[in-house]
Amino acid sequence: MLRISHVYGDHNTFAVRKMIQHTSTEEERTTAIPSTLLRIFASDGPLAKALPGYAPRQQQLEMAVAVWRALDVQQPLIVEAGTGIGKSLAYLIPSALWASQYRKKVIVATYTRTLQEQLIAKDLPIVSDVLRRLGLTIQYALLMGAENYLCVQRLTHCVNQGKALFDTDGEEQILGKLHAWTRTAMTGLRSRIPLRVPESVWGRVCRDADLCLGRRGPAWQTCLYRKDITHARQANLVVVNQHLLFAGLSLPGVDALIIDEAHNLEGVAAQFLGFSLTDRSVRRLLDDTLSPQTGRGLAVRLAQQPERWRKDVGVAVQKADAAAKDLFEQIRPLLDGEPERTAGVSTILPRSEQADATGDTVRRRIQQPHLLRDLLSESLGRLAELLEEALARSETAEQEAEIRAHVARHAQAARQLKEFLACGRPDYAYWIEQGPASRGSLLSLHMAPLEISEPVTEVLQNGLTRVYDSRRPG
Ligand code: SF4
Repeated sequence: MLRISHVYGDHNTFAVRKMIQHTSTEEERTTAIPSTLLRIFASDGPLAKALPGYAPRQQQLEMAVAVWRALDVQQPLIVEAGTGIGKSLAYLIPSALWASQYRKKVIVATYTRTLQEQLIAKDLPIVSDVLRRLGLTIQYALLMGAENYLCVQRLTHCVNQGKALFDTDGEEQILGKLHAWTRTAMTGLRSRIPLRVPESVWGRVCRDADLCLGRRGPAWQTCLYRKDITHARQANLVVVNQHLLFAGLSLPGVDALIIDEAHNLEGVAAQFLGFSLTDRSVRRLLDDTLSPQTGRGLAVRLAQQPERWRKDVGVAVQKADAAAKDLFEQIRPLLDGEPERTAGVSTILPRSEQADATGDTVRRRIQQPHLLRDLLSESLGRLAELLEEALARSETAEQEAEIRAHVARHAQAARQLKEFLACGRPDYAYWIEQGPASRGSLLSLHMAPLEISEPVTEVLQNGLTRVYDSRRPG
């Protein structure tokens, strides 16, 4: 059974005390606090030896005890704790102790990448040191979203294509260095790569789940991502990103889930269950197929396709490009005008003060179907058809996977756009947005469910036991 412990990351410490008082009488009957846990947090205990400057804090100990009990009696726990009590160690130490003593597996899900890295680089080495002083061991691992890993197959493909893909010699040199590094690397995680890889290169060599051939691919034996997954499967404690909980993370045998920064979970769920379409993402989609500026793209790389086909793709991309500009230009007056005076449009309060403080984002809720003229979904559909035609002439499994991924992306964008414009689901919110000028005033369309309790519950209970898609490593 999956045990759930929620650890919220803000507010006051009173809630911690209150919760412990509330739960202690019942739980004390079923579980004893191990003396080891109390010893760890003592002023002269293992934590004091592993962490210079450590001073015992009553609230930290109370939280650690509450987490231990929740794990031990298999009950959910929600903790609200103020800053400065040392929350990370207050849940990492009892979890690691529990996992190590009883051979359990614990997942810790965070919202930010920064916290993920902090747990791995700063807190877990301390926890490991503490346990070592007690004669115990803990194996921990970090798992991030696919785009954070190097794909050896895509890298090899880029190295072989060389100048056909990149503008500068510098980019080609980085490819060469990356390729050399993979020969001895033990992880494909981007943050562990000992050189700076610019976005223009990373976008072409990172893992892409749609293109991954798994064991059918030529790089299966040397796949670094596979090493990372294997490492995570062997670990007692795995730090992941909350997005992974919804994206089908598969780590069988998970015994407990701890969600840090849990106040963000609703937002992550809504984002995952809905969608966003930005002017930039549509532009990138079209450029990946055939860029009018650089003359590059999938259509050019598929050298075996007939010239007539390439011309048709060129015309379809031009049409789609014009339709995308037309669509997003229609958004501007709706964002600029007075919402009260524009039929089908209303204001949306910022989701949180934090969101409000991020800059001058403007949002308008759309409540009327077909408020925007749409020529884009038809053009994207036409491109999907043309790419599908090319499938029959693909020469390798990699090429086939790449074409299929492009077909799926065009078809998905067309479907999402139609769904957005129809505004047909009363259980969803539809809105348009212009991002802050500091980030390029990105224009976007969004759709998200209004109620997410069911899918969140489903993911919390089953999300970690899903079986991997057979195309993916594992
Ligand atoms: S198995 Fe997937 S991630 Fe690994 S090298 Fe092959 S394509 Fe890349």
